[in-house]
Amino acid sequence: MSKNGNDKNGTPGRPGVDFIRARIQDDNASGRFGGRVHTRFPPEPNGCLHLGHAKSICLNFGVAGEFGGKCNLRFDDTNPAKEETEYVDSIREDVRWLGGDWQEREFYASDYFEQLYAYAEQLIRMGKAYVDDLSADEIREYRGTLTEPGRESPWRSRSMEENLDLFRRMRAGEFSDGARVLRAKIDMASSNPAMRDPTLYRIRHAEHHRTGKTWCIYPLYDYTHCLSDSLEGITHSLCTLEFANNRELYDWVLDALNVYHPQQIEFARLNLTCTVLSKRRLIQLVESGCVSGWDDPRMPTLSGLRRRGVPPEALREFCARVGLARVNSTVEVAMLEFCIREYLNDHAPRVMAVLDPVKVIIENYPKGQVETFEMPYHPEDAAFGSRNVPFSRELYIERDDFRANPPRKYHRLAPDAEVRLRYAYLITCREAVLDETGKVRELRCMYDPQSRGGRSPDGRRVKGTIHWVSAAHALPATMRLYEQLFAVANPGEAPEEGTFLDNVTPDSLRCTRGWMEPALADACVGDRVQFERLGYFCKDRESTAEMPVFNRTVTLRDSWAKLEKREG
Ligand code: ATP
Ligand code: MG
Repeated sequence: MSKNGNDKNGTPGRPGVDFIRARIQDDNASGRFGGRVHTRFPPEPNGCLHLGHAKSICLNFGVAGEFGGKCNLRFDDTNPAKEETEYVDSIREDVRWLGGDWQEREFYASDYFEQLYAYAEQLIRMGKAYVDDLSADEIREYRGTLTEPGRESPWRSRSMEENLDLFRRMRAGEFSDGARVLRAKIDMASSNPAMRDPTLYRIRHAEHHRTGKTWCIYPLYDYTHCLSDSLEGITHSLCTLEFANNRELYDWVLDALNVYHPQQIEFARLNLTCTVLSKRRLIQLVESGCVSGWDDPRMPTLSGLRRRGVPPEALREFCARVGLARVNSTVEVAMLEFCIREYLNDHAPRVMAVLDPVKVIIENYPKGQVETFEMPYHPEDAAFGSRNVPFSRELYIERDDFRANPPRKYHRLAPDAEVRLRYAYLITCREAVLDETGKVRELRCMYDPQSRGGRSPDGRRVKGTIHWVSAAHALPATMRLYEQLFAVANPGEAPEEGTFLDNVTPDSLRCTRGWMEPALADACVGDRVQFERLGYFCKDRESTAEMPVFNRTVTLRDSWAKLEKREG
């Protein structure tokens, strides 16, 4: 697969170029927009951004960057009931984090309300819009179906003067919510239901997060979006496939008003296995208490992924690998993990920490003696530098690195078995001391003083190498080990299993009290490290001076590579 993943969905004759970039090249060649490329990312501030939005951000800002163009950030805030300033702030932070730079071009659909209203009066004067008194239910009933044409509303033939008067009175607040709407007068028999006199304005006596109580009528998405694009001079309006039928309406509004006309192009949504990607569902996860909030590290939100330790570079690489298609499909979540591992493998320093500790006492190591071992932060990249790690008579190792009855091919510690302590010494286990429940309390070991640095002095084979920390020097830490929030590939898709909330795995977060090497005293919130043999971790914002908290971003196991091998 090429770096940008376009080989599988490139444009015929232009390998490596996806269909959107191919169309932009064509438009530039024909001079359609004067060679300009201007896109926008248009989130609705009714929730936090998720991985699906990352795809749209990478596409819109990516295309603008590649063609020397611009990309606007536009809040699509036409629905006063569900939108909040808190989401605006989080969206801004997330887009910037992913690398989207809108410079000074931060816009709001609500900035255009006055202009949109003027356009609506213009449509009325042209006889292309009318005020309808049918209720929402009646409008639905009159709309018809995919196979049957709709019926015309009895209010469709009102005079222009009456429509104008009623629309002005709608604005003035004379009518209650739902009493009347403004509709485009197009064609109730159109084969495209989106064209059957769509609603342009509805009455909503609600306070808006930006315009306050100025308005009690609000424009609908299809009417607002095309005109916002037009007003901002957007060239290519990139949206997801479910808007393909709405393109005809997009074009109709702009043609009817005879204003500047961008090109809408649809692409496939991102869907991921074991993941829900819809704000409606993500809100339910938050409100049901399944997760601790929008930025819970198990959430597929950008704030959750960031908190988990996912680097923005890995998300950009993931979006590039997913590529662009004209049909919806579902991407394996393992591919996302692959991109995260690949980036962190090159960029995260390696340190030692023990998640589930058991004490090792080296009986022949002098009491009170401390040695330090210089260890590189990255075995393949000297630029990371190194640190000194203290070694002493009492250490912690991972409980799982000892077995009283080792299975075959178990190369770690066991009674009378020898193992290498990473970069330090070879030790042999002499005795496992158990507590009253039969659990190992400590391991009594002997070290080989000739093996300093982990060398084998006489060439004897010691296969296993385990990590460790010096007990007297170790720093305590809470480790949060995350699993997939959903174990099923398609949450909520099997009705007999209930809703997607019934598919939430019960134990997707496990906390342990571990120990880390002292070099981690300097770690800052957001720092990413590899705990050797355990995985990549990121320091959480809930850390305190006494108790740092580390979130496991991803384990070291590469399930995607295995999957590819199996499928390839
Ligand atoms: P949701 O279904 O999660 O509410 P939405 O499409 O309603 O998503 P918006 O805030 O309206 O969310 O979306 C902003 C932009 O992000 C839109 O251009 C939308 O097409 C795009 N987008 C949203 N979800 C995805 C996705 N899964 N894949 C690709 N693009 C997406
Ligand atoms: Mg939406």
